Amino acid sequence: MNVKKIDKEYVLNTYNRFDLLLTKGKGSLVYDENGKEYIDMTTGIGVTAFGIADDEWVEAVSSQLTTLQHVSNLYYTSPCALLAKAICEKTDMSKVFFSNSGAEANECAIKIARKYTSDKGSDRYNILTLNDSFHGRTLATLSATGQEHYHELFNPLPGGFVHAKANDIDDVLSKAKEHDVCAIMIECVQGEGGVIKLDEEFVKAVYEYANANDILLIVDEVQTGNGRSGKLYSYMNYGIKPDVFTTAKGLGGGLPIGACVVGEKAQNTLGFGDHGSTYGGNPIACAGALSVINRIDDKLLEEVRAKSEYIFENLSNANGVESLSGMGLMIGIKLKKNVSDVIKECMENGVLCLSAKDKLRLLPALNIDFELLKKAVDIIKSACA
Ligand SMILES: *Cc1c(COP(=O)(O)O)cnc(C)c1O
Repeated sequence: MNVKKIDKEYVLNTYNRFDLLLTKGKGSLVYDENGKEYIDMTTGIGVTAFGIADDEWVEAVSSQLTTLQHVSNLYYTSPCALLAKAICEKTDMSKVFFSNSGAEANECAIKIARKYTSDKGSDRYNILTLNDSFHGRTLATLSATGQEHYHELFNPLPGGFVHAKANDIDDVLSKAKEHDVCAIMIECVQGEGGVIKLDEEFVKAVYEYANANDILLIVDEVQTGNGRSGKLYSYMNYGIKPDVFTTAKGLGGGLPIGACVVGEKAQNTLGFGDHGSTYGGNPIACAGALSVINRIDDKLLEEVRAKSEYIFENLSNANGVESLSGMGLMIGIKLKKNVSDVIKECMENGVLCLSAKDKLRLLPALNIDFELLKKAVDIIKSACA
């Protein structure tokens, strides 16, 4: 059976896949159809936080699978309630809406921002986002995404979004005033945009401005969240607290789930019937996510930061490397060589890596074995040279 040929023939060609058919894995190792082993520095784009087929996650998911897989949001189920409680207790937020993806979590945040201001009798509706941001592929989240090349193909996109320069507080404040915005949405580390970390001063100034003007601050933690940044959520590195944050990717550990997490201010904005999702809060996805979130403790986060330091120390001054960016285990590497050549060479030598714009991007599992990480870093190092 030629899977690659069948895929090419029958799956819409929206992904230019690598010439690689993966068949199984365990932890941070994955295997192709010929049994060749790869160290996985991609985690399905920041999704499999504890690697492939992690025992604890498998146990949580499979025991829920054989008990109750789905009943709809018309009834209470314990995984949904316990996951919402765990997230709120760990973040001091108030309430959660569950969806199935990052884009949907952001859609929920956008709806909350719009209703929050209209409930107050205000006619503000614009939401400010940053250049080079990425917020998803639905029409509204594409509109929110501050990258022109995503916009051109699908006009007309929903209106009500304005973009400003990242790390430029003057530009943000002047656009926010000019367009009378009701919310500002940021990623503390812009993932798809090139692993660009926002400056602490900038984020704090945005937070203070939003707070002072009853503008909702929404932090998109879809990629940066759930331990990836070295803290549970990336905003925690900045000493701020958003009004709303969204997350997905790593939360589910490999099952589709998104969460829009709402603080005190907007916790009652959406009421009965104002929003919904058939699969949102699904017991299996929530059981898996609960096992993920419960394992992200101080000890694990310390390990994430130590591994991050190791990567920064060993690659920052390596041959062929211009600079490193990012935070925790979300790292971008600016190269002298072409990024796709480096990815190809890494793959040949048994390491899977990602790109973000012209950078090499690493998103390894939070619990990747240190020895495996060292091996991967050595291979990446020689591919960059
Ligand atoms: C991946 C991503 C999204 C979109 O998530 P999906 O699950 O693909 O819808 C949104 N925001 C950020 C920051 C992301 O990295």
